Amino acid sequence: MKIAMIGCGYVGLVTGACFASFGFSVASVDTDESKIASLKAGGVPIYEPGLGELLERGTKLGLVSFTTDLAEAVRAADVIFVAVGTPSRRGDGHADLAYVFAAAEEIGRTMAAEPEGGYKVVVVKSTVPVGTGDEVERILARHVPAERYSVASNPEFLREGAAIEDFKRPDRVVVGVNDERAKEVMARVYRPLSLNQAPVFYTDRRTAELTKYAANAFLATKITFINEIADLCEATGANVQDVARGIGLDRRIGPKFLNAGPGYGGSCFPKDTQALIKTAQDFGAPIRIVETVASVNDQRKRAMAKKVVKALGGEIRGATIAVLGLTFKPNTDDMRDAPSLAIVQALKDMGAEVRAYDPEGMENARRMMEGVDFVTDPYDCAKDADAAVIVTEWDVLRALDLNLLKSSLKNPVLIDLRNVYEPGEMAARGYRYVPIGRPSVE
Ligand code: NAD
Repeated sequence: MKIAMIGCGYVGLVTGACFASFGFSVASVDTDESKIASLKAGGVPIYEPGLGELLERGTKLGLVSFTTDLAEAVRAADVIFVAVGTPSRRGDGHADLAYVFAAAEEIGRTMAAEPEGGYKVVVVKSTVPVGTGDEVERILARHVPAERYSVASNPEFLREGAAIEDFKRPDRVVVGVNDERAKEVMARVYRPLSLNQAPVFYTDRRTAELTKYAANAFLATKITFINEIADLCEATGANVQDVARGIGLDRRIGPKFLNAGPGYGGSCFPKDTQALIKTAQDFGAPIRIVETVASVNDQRKRAMAKKVVKALGGEIRGATIAVLGLTFKPNTDDMRDAPSLAIVQALKDMGAEVRAYDPEGMENARRMMEGVDFVTDPYDCAKDADAAVIVTEWDVLRALDLNLLKSSLKNPVLIDLRNVYEPGEMAARGYRYVPIGRPSVE
């Protein structure tokens, strides 16, 4: 079985490397020449734990190759995965499908140039609105007869930071197919995973496409729900972590995604909720709960900056704020739509100087944040600062030397947007400590 993986981003690289570890031959394609050159030279363009080792092994065994030549990879492939980006379209929030359609066009043209070529399954792995598979089918149909291809949907559910584990031991794999022939091929592709007891769930293509958005919208809703409960806890003196535990022990609710914080971010939830909202409106079936979730979450990020202002007595003009953690979650260098972007901007808008530290995200952050002083150590970041703010719960920020941090800071003020520390201990150490959804301590 030969696989072409179109797109060498977070999803394409990880899934390609994992398929190769099952013994499939994977040709990974990207239009970004510098990315391909770096991969060919043994580099890994993103930070994802374990990915470097997996790619190295696959390359040594001759199972993983990299190219900018889509046609070459497609000609050799039985299965072609499309894992290109589907960002928010500027202006209206719809998913921008330009990269998906461009890839489909090129696949069609390549197949047309090889009239004797065999049957291939084109699998859309990118997150795409319901009905996109139909459009991909129409694009291919302009170039090749229908018996030469099938189009399947196989949305990806991996989490950055734990992507390889998620791929190899997924809660489920969702495959959307509209014909038996494609189903048989997809069953062969996922046979190694079904041996791991991973449930591979087959449905029709449109349902698979919508399942991905429904999953992300549900998770975004769960996060936003606990965030609003956290606000109510702050107003009433209750403790959101205990509320979360109290409801999470109910198996109908479950304990995950109940950590109150600065609002969801990242490359998926913000854009996928927006795209679902637009799709639902277009089909005349608006999903008002998700509309509210997106708007509450947007407002929350700037509200976090106001928490800092309040902790400093109502004014931060001229103050230096140390921001600890920038990526939208730990164990990734992905800065797309990270809450830190809005928080830092709001702090600067209110006249503060911002100094920032992140273990892996600073290179990307530098390109996205202006007028921020980046430093490579959390204690240097806190040096003479008026307050520190934990935005991302990286391991190194979960076990800070609290005495050293306190002596580095000008004022012992810590705003903890991830509830990493214990209020009682922080009080004993002499901090003014402001967590989320739990009583602050002076
Ligand atoms: P990404 O931006 O990291 O990577 C996309 C890659 O595709 C880029 O390297 C780009 O150069 C390449 N590309 C674009 N057009 C191309 C073409 N015509 N031919 C070859 N390469 C092309 O994106 P990502 O984070 O990997 O996400 C890919 C898709 O998977 C998106 O639809 C996303 O919503 C979805 N997804 C992402 C995650 C995640 O955690 N990142 C999880 C699940 C699903």
